[in-house]
Amino acid sequence: MRKKLTKENSIKAVKILWETHPDADCALLYKTPFHLLVAVVMSAQATDKSVNAVAPELFKEYPDADAFAKLEYGLLEKRIKKIGLYRSKSKNIINMSKILVEKYGGEVPANYDDLIKLPGVGRKSANVVLATGFGIPRIAVDTHVFRLSNRIGVTYEKDVLSTELALMKVLPDDMWIRTHHTLIFHGRQICDARKPKCDRCSINHICLYASSPDERSRILDNLHTKKGM
Ligand code: SF4
Repeated sequence: MRKKLTKENSIKAVKILWETHPDADCALLYKTPFHLLVAVVMSAQATDKSVNAVAPELFKEYPDADAFAKLEYGLLEKRIKKIGLYRSKSKNIINMSKILVEKYGGEVPANYDDLIKLPGVGRKSANVVLATGFGIPRIAVDTHVFRLSNRIGVTYEKDVLSTELALMKVLPDDMWIRTHHTLIFHGRQICDARKPKCDRCSINHICLYASSPDERSRILDNLHTKKGM
C-alpha cells in the first residue's frame, strides 16, 4: 500500500497547483510586518474576511507598535469585538506591542526564537510572519495545509509539526512560501474538508486520496487521528 507520493510526484503535484492558483497569496490585508503580525494574531480561529473587516481601519488610527502599546484593553476589545476570542486577542496584541517597543525599538523581529516568545504568537503564526512578512523560507501548517498535504500524499503524518518537517524535507526551500498559500487556496476552493471536489481537481491523477477507495479510507483514518491542530 502506498503511503506517500514520491518526491518527484510531490513536487509535480504542487507545481500543478501553483498553475491552478497563480494568484495564491496571503489573504490578510496589511502594509507592514507589524500589521501582518497583528492580523495573524487576530486571525486565530477566525476567518481572514472577519479580520480584514476591522484591521485596515484600525491600522489607519494606530499605525505601529508604539500606538498599539498605548491602547487600553477595553478600547481594543470594542474595536475587534466581531472577531472571536476578542478579549484574549486584545490583551495579547497590546502586551505584544509593549514588548516590541521595549525590546525591539517597535520593530517586528525577523527571527523565529524572538517571535515565538511574543504573547499570542505560536509556531504557525511565527512562520506566517517570517515567510509572508520577511520572505524567509518557512512553511506554516494550518488546517488546510495539514489536510491537503496528507490527503494528496505529499506527507503522511498525524500532527502539524511532523507535517511541517516532512514538507520541508520533500520540497526545496524556494517552494515553501508559495506552496503554503497555494494549499490554502486549493483547500478553500476545491479540496474542501468535508466534500473535496476531486472531479474538478487539477491533480486528481496524482493525488493519493483520489486514486483508490483503499487509499481514501486509510488517509481519512490518519487525518481523523490528527493531533496538534
Ligand atoms: S484530488 Fe480530491 S482530495 Fe486530492 S487534492 Fe484534489 S480535491 Fe483534494
